[in-house]
Amino acid sequence: MQSKKQIKKICYRPTWAEIDLSAIDFNFRQVKSITGKQTKVMAVIKCDAYGHGLLPVARRLIGLGADYLGVASIDEAIALRKEKVKLPVLVLGNTLNEHTDPIVKYGLTQAVSDYRLASKLSHIAKREGKFIKVHIKVDTGMGRLGVLYREAIILIKKIKKLDNLIIEGLFTHFPCADSDSEFTSYQIEIFKQLISDLKKCGITVPICHAANSMGLIGYPESHFDLVRPGLMLFGIYPKRGLNIKLRPAFSLKTKAVFLKDMPSGQGISYGRNYITRKQTTVAVLSIGYGDGYPRNLSNRADVLIKGRRFVISGAICMDYIMVDIGNLPAKTGEEIVLIGSQAKIRISAEELAQLSGTIAYEIVCGIGSRVPRVYLS
Ligand SMILES: *Cc1c(COP(=O)(O)O)cnc(C)c1O
Repeated sequence: MQSKKQIKKICYRPTWAEIDLSAIDFNFRQVKSITGKQTKVMAVIKCDAYGHGLLPVARRLIGLGADYLGVASIDEAIALRKEKVKLPVLVLGNTLNEHTDPIVKYGLTQAVSDYRLASKLSHIAKREGKFIKVHIKVDTGMGRLGVLYREAIILIKKIKKLDNLIIEGLFTHFPCADSDSEFTSYQIEIFKQLISDLKKCGITVPICHAANSMGLIGYPESHFDLVRPGLMLFGIYPKRGLNIKLRPAFSLKTKAVFLKDMPSGQGISYGRNYITRKQTTVAVLSIGYGDGYPRNLSNRADVLIKGRRFVISGAICMDYIMVDIGNLPAKTGEEIVLIGSQAKIRISAEELAQLSGTIAYEIVCGIGSRVPRVYLS
């Protein structure tokens, strides 16, 4: 397989994440099939594209026809610009006033929640003889960034007067689109109201947006001019039981670097909380919590070996995971899947998240930089 050749070039430790870019193609088309022709798509690729790798994913999505990219910080946006990404990039997070120069320098679009940042941006843009585009962030219930809903009109009117600043966008965010449809519908209603109140004051914002993946899938009335999917582009479901087909892009793989025949009654790993119950073979896998695989999956999560599920045995170490494989005839160098499929069996990021008491976002974002990403297309 092509992936193995690539991995050899990057490092010798046989642990890697495989990113299936064709799955991202499929998921992007699913987004396009749900939204109308007029609706623009901002691909949200913050946090190294949810652990899938910022640049390869950005390039793929640009090729697919994404209209906008969304990132968390100016650092992520600059990384894109330095690699010649020309597409509009919205910095979704707040930027401190002392760090605003790069926004003008790299032609970024900045989310704005208050007057101070807007006037600083206006000032720099004027000094440089340029224009800056901003998207006003409105808090309709997220309780994080954004101007409070009831203060939004006054703020927007004030910002509108600033020189060299273009209010290109107006947006809000859903805290519980997966769990509270009543509250989400209320947010959509008041956001609509704000848009029409602004119109009455003669202010029309060209790009209004609200929908994350769950908004996009579950609330067609939240699509407005642009949708902001992140998670679903990677083939991970924001909620169980959704009537939409997605293809997961992320697999996590390793190899058994050591196999050992052990007698019954032998403790495995720190704490000795797994004891062999018969003569058996224990496989030592070259991956651990140091790679971002959650330690609380010790004695809980399965891995795939030769197309079968085996439970992790004993505590997960920083660099190793042990698995009691019974009498399975595995060899040193045996390929093992921690996320992804082998034969017809699959372990999803969602499954690990559930066992680990977290969300799938944290599983994929958590797989560290020690794990090289290998791209399949
Ligand atoms: C992360 C994020 C998104 C994407 O959310 P998903 O649930 O991954 O689709 C959209 N908008 C904002 C403001 C975000 O922070």
